[in-house]
Amino acid sequence: MDIKKVIDKIVVNSKASIDDIVSILNSNCNDYLFEQANNIRKKYCGDKVELRAIIEFSNYCRCDCLYCGINRQNTSLNRYRMKLDEIIECAKKASKMQ
Ligand code: SF4
Repeated sequence: MDIKKVIDKIVVNSKASIDDIVSILNSNCNDYLFEQANNIRKKYCGDKVELRAIIEFSNYCRCDCLYCGINRQNTSLNRYRMKLDEIIECAKKASKMQ
């Protein structure tokens, strides 16, 4: 299988099957893969660097994303939920950090 065609198909469709991913991982086509990934980055983000921050006003979640430390199955976590005045105070502090 021509791995470049697999990568091109993913670029066009913005979608990869498990077989596509396995094929790429088993190939030695990193240069082409990284080139295409860089083209997509340039298309959507350009060459600028954006910094952003979030105010994590709660660590309660009802989802089970396996990679996430705050998923609902993690019962060893101390859960918190900030009050509105705490969130506003935090946002004010963040706005002064620019
Ligand atoms: S990534 Fe974590 S916080 Fe986000 S939805 Fe999944 S479990 Fe919840």
